[in-house]
Amino acid sequence: MSYVVFFQQLNEEHQVQLDKNMHFVEMTATYLDDYINSNKRALQNLALTDAIKQENASKITQIFQNYSLAQPETSLHWVANSQGIVISKFPNNELDSNLAEREYFQEAMKGNPYVGGPYICSQTRNEIIIITVPYYRDDKVAGIVGMTIPLSEVQTKLTTLQTDQSVDVGLISLEGKALSHPDLEEFRKKFVFKDSPIYQRVVVSKEESGYFEQDSVETVQEMHTFKVLTEAPWVVIVTQPLVAFNSRANQTGGRNLAVLFLLLLFLSWVIHYLLLLRDMSHAEKTKQTEKLALVGELAAGIAHEIRNPLTSIKGFIQLASQKKGKDIPPLYIETILEELDRIDQIVGEMVVLAKPAPEIKRKVHLDKILQETVNLMIPQALIHEIELTLEIEPGLPYVIGVSNQLKQVFINLIKNAIEAMEHGGTVMIKASRRSGNIVITIADTGRGMSQETLRKVGTPFFSTKDMGTGLGLVITFRLIQNHKGKVCIRSEVGVGTKFKIIFPAGDESEQ
Ligand code: ADP
Ligand code: MG
Repeated sequence: MSYVVFFQQLNEEHQVQLDKNMHFVEMTATYLDDYINSNKRALQNLALTDAIKQENASKITQIFQNYSLAQPETSLHWVANSQGIVISKFPNNELDSNLAEREYFQEAMKGNPYVGGPYICSQTRNEIIIITVPYYRDDKVAGIVGMTIPLSEVQTKLTTLQTDQSVDVGLISLEGKALSHPDLEEFRKKFVFKDSPIYQRVVVSKEESGYFEQDSVETVQEMHTFKVLTEAPWVVIVTQPLVAFNSRANQTGGRNLAVLFLLLLFLSWVIHYLLLLRDMSHAEKTKQTEKLALVGELAAGIAHEIRNPLTSIKGFIQLASQKKGKDIPPLYIETILEELDRIDQIVGEMVVLAKPAPEIKRKVHLDKILQETVNLMIPQALIHEIELTLEIEPGLPYVIGVSNQLKQVFINLIKNAIEAMEHGGTVMIKASRRSGNIVITIADTGRGMSQETLRKVGTPFFSTKDMGTGLGLVITFRLIQNHKGKVCIRSEVGVGTKFKIIFPAGDESEQ
C-alpha cells in the first residue's frame, strides 16, 4: 500500500514539476526569440537609412553611436559592403576587415537576415553571436549591416530569467555546440551531442519541444525539457535532478500512508469516495491548466508582437530627436505610422478574441448574411482585380447563431482568399444543403498552402504575410466551433484553397 501511495504522490509531483518546467522552457524560448527578433528588426530599420544605403562612413558611425546610446548593450555594430569590406564599425573595436568568406556575410548577401554562432572573436577571443541583415540599393543587395553580441550577454539574460535554483538552463545550437550554461565546461561534457536524446529528438525527428529523462554523469536521474527557438537554430534545455522532488514526495507519501491506515481501519468505502473525489479534482486541474496554457500562449505572443513595433518606433523617435531643428525624414514618420497601424490591428483583433460574453443566438439566414458580406468585400476585391461570385441554393433552412459572428467568419475567410491572389482571380462562394446541414464553400484561385502551412493555420500569430497578424483563422475557427460547425480545408500550392464549413441546419417546419 505504501508503495502505491508513494508512487502516486511521485507521479503527481512529477507531473506538476514537468508542467512547470515546460512552461519555463517556453517562456525562456519566447524571451530569447523576442530578444533576437527585436535586434534583427532594429538592424533592418537601420538598413533603411540613407547613410547606410549610401555607405557614408561618418554618418553611419553617427547613427550607430545614437543607436547604442539608446540601447546600452555591450554589442558591436558594423556595415560591410558587397565585397565584404567593413566600411564602418562602432565602437571602433578591431574587426577582421574582410568578411567575404564568412557564412554570416554570405547568407545575408542572399537577401535574408541571419543569426549565427558561436564564433570566436579574433581580437578578444571571446565567444560571440552575430546577426546580419542585408541593405539594398536600387532593389539589389548592396551590403550587410551586422551586430555582434557577446555570448556572455545571452548568459546574463538567461540567469536573470531563472527563479527556481533547482533547475538550470542551457542553450545549444542545432549543430551541437553548447552556447550557454552556468557551468559551460560541465555542460559541454554532458551533452556529447550525437549521443544525446536531444539529437534524436530535435535533429532527426524534428520535434520542436518536449521532455526526456536521462541519467547524468553521477547517475542521478534528471528531467530535461527542451524547446527549439524560431528565430535561431538553437535549443533551450531546462534540466532538473529528479531527486529534488523525490525526497519531497517521500515525506508527503509517509503522511498520506498514516492517514490511509486509519481510514482503512474504519471504513474502506471512504477510500473509494476519496479516490473518486480526487479523480474529479484532477480532471478539473487539467482543464484549468489547459486554459492557463492558452492564456499564456496568447500573452507571450501578444507581448512579442507588440514589442517589435514598439522597439522600432522607439528607435526612430530617438533617431529623429537627434536631428535637432532639422527636418525629420518622411521615412521615419512613415515607418512609425506603419508600426502604429500594426499595433492597432493586433489590438483590434485581440478584442474580438477576448470578448467574454457570448451573444444571444437567434434564427438567422445564411443567404442574407453571405449576401451582405459579399457586398461589403466587393470594393476590396475590385482593387485587386478579383471577382467574387455567390451561388446560393434557394430555400435554405435557417441556422441558430449570431449574425455578426457569422459575418466575421465569412469576412475573415474572404479576406484571406483575396490576400492569396496578388495577380487577380476569382473567389467562389457557394451555399447549399446536404442532409440536415448547410454547407458553405469559399474557394479561391490563389497561391494555396504548403502541407506545413496547412498544419499551422489557426495557431495564434501564425502568419506567412509581412503584415499579417495570424489571428484571423484563430477567431474564425473559434466562432465556427461556437456555432457547432465544422471546417475542412483543401489546398494546393499554386492552384488555390477551398474552405468548407458545415453548420447544422435548423428545423425546417418552423421556418
Ligand atoms: P493572417 O491573414 O493575418 O496571416 P490568418 O489566421 O487569417 O492570419 O491566416 C494565417 C495564414 O494562413 C496566412 O498567413 C496564410 O499563410 C494562410 N492562409 C489563410 N487563408 C489562405 C488562403 N485562402 N490561401 C492561402 N493561404 C491562406
Ligand atoms: Mg487573415
